Amino acid sequence: MFFDEERSVKRTLGIRDKQILYRNAKGRCQNPGCNKKIDFDEMQVGHKTAYSRGGATTMRNSVCLCYRCNKLQGTDSWATFLKKQNIEDPETVKKQSMKQALQSLSLAQLKSLAGRHHVKILGQVEEDWFESHRVAPTKSQYVTKLTGVVTSAELASLSKETPVRAKPKKRRTSDRS
Ligand SMILES: [Zn+2]
Repeated sequence: MFFDEERSVKRTLGIRDKQILYRNAKGRCQNPGCNKKIDFDEMQVGHKTAYSRGGATTMRNSVCLCYRCNKLQGTDSWATFLKKQNIEDPETVKKQSMKQALQSLSLAQLKSLAGRHHVKILGQVEEDWFESHRVAPTKSQYVTKLTGVVTSAELASLSKETPVRAKPKKRRTSDRS
């Protein structure tokens, strides 16, 4: 592993960065499936993208891992590593919940959000025999484009703005359907 001395120098973070990494991780292994408390001396600096696969030794690409998890990850990417353990990547989960929140908005709300973020969404061009015209963008187009653009705080304030629809009352026994 370490034949290449020159390269190996850049394989690890500097001590300052290591300390920051350790502090950000609150002294725990950052593998969600482990979360073990580790000493600073025990910390292994894992790469989200393996060094051997072109992953840079930067803070962004680094994770604080215990010895076991670092070994376990091997050269797998972080996403693959989590997947193998049946753990969902928190980033992915966040995106999914954002998507769901967007989907629950009305088209008008999505339009105004797109406007606020200067996101241009064009409807698909439909062609028939004589002419082609653009149809209005669909809701799912808005959702796709706005996922990751709109912040969750924004979504929260948006749901406050809109009049909350009265919760469906419990059905009376007289309700027939
Ligand atoms: Zn661990």
